Amino acid sequence: MVRHVYPNLMPYTCSLADLPVEEMKQVLGKEQVYKLSFNENPLGPSPKAIEAMQQSLLQLNLYPSSNGEAVLNKIAEKEGVQPHNVILSNGADEMIILVAQTFLEPEDEAIIPEICFVQYLASTHLMGAKPVFSPMKEDLGIDLEGVLQKISEKTKVIFLCNPNNPTGTVIPSDELKAFIERVPENVLVVIDEAYHEFAEGDGYASSVEFVKDFANVFVIRTFSKIYSMAAARIGYGIGQAELVDAVNHVRPPFNVNSIAQAGALASLDDSEHVAESRRNNQIGKQLLCKTFEELGLSYLKSQANFVCVDTGRDGKEVFDRLAERGFIVRTLAGYGLTSSLRVSIGRQEEMEAFVAAFKEVI
Ligand code: PMP
Repeated sequence: MVRHVYPNLMPYTCSLADLPVEEMKQVLGKEQVYKLSFNENPLGPSPKAIEAMQQSLLQLNLYPSSNGEAVLNKIAEKEGVQPHNVILSNGADEMIILVAQTFLEPEDEAIIPEICFVQYLASTHLMGAKPVFSPMKEDLGIDLEGVLQKISEKTKVIFLCNPNNPTGTVIPSDELKAFIERVPENVLVVIDEAYHEFAEGDGYASSVEFVKDFANVFVIRTFSKIYSMAAARIGYGIGQAELVDAVNHVRPPFNVNSIAQAGALASLDDSEHVAESRRNNQIGKQLLCKTFEELGLSYLKSQANFVCVDTGRDGKEVFDRLAERGFIVRTLAGYGLTSSLRVSIGRQEEMEAFVAAFKEVI
């Protein structure tokens, strides 16, 4: 009766890291808990978005726009594409599922870098398709040559994440373009840019610029990260009209609620809030990296809102000792990185407190 769609692995092994903050407090018996395990933006949504969302509550009796037209139009304007190139989803997570539902059938293969966001694997399994893992580079960046070598007659989708979660590394834009040119036209290249707005170096540029030249590129974004609206659940995809139309045939109507649509629309107007989120992230990341350097620990240079550090000892042990002090981070043992932890960037005072605790436990 029950169909198990995740037969082999759930890379995130530490269930404490997945709890809502209030439950973490209960489990740990602590009044204050620092949740640094979900790559959330600690600043909260733009005040303009909060006001718009509050206003939208007055019309909860009405169905939302079924495709979120006003939001589509604004994203299209901002990204230099047409509204028919954009599609909204209930968080980027739903977009990953919609892409799998649209483009994967049982027996198809989807290529997924070995150390990458878990939902590509889950969605591939969901469709009964076969995940084919591609190796990482020695520096744990995504190895595009390795991906190319895994392409077979059965490959239908390649999932890439840029900047990558959980490593924070980026694929430089010129390398990505050269890669896409070598991918067969019948293979869809999905580029998940959930952390796009945090990235500002190492050759990173958005792949939205490739959409007009390549019919097989589909970019995924979210309002959960820089816009700090993770609870509202809204993301979007950008691709050529034919791709977007195909995904629209699978998308449930009203998949994005009116509160999320109102918040997203107002968020896109608040560039100062985006700048503030970036500033907070830079400050926290610098403090974290400086600390790791002082402690002689190696870490991955991150273009996202988290940093992956090699603790040089059992990561679960360090996780537990941090948890005792109220700090919840992410273990990466499910990826074979048994000594590494991923730490999300919080507010400056949270990062200062984290650094003090980390120095005690390491
Ligand atoms: N893609 C990546 C790479 C992510 O890290 C996340 C969230 N952790 C998502 C997609 C899902 O984001 P959303 O909240 O929009 O579903």
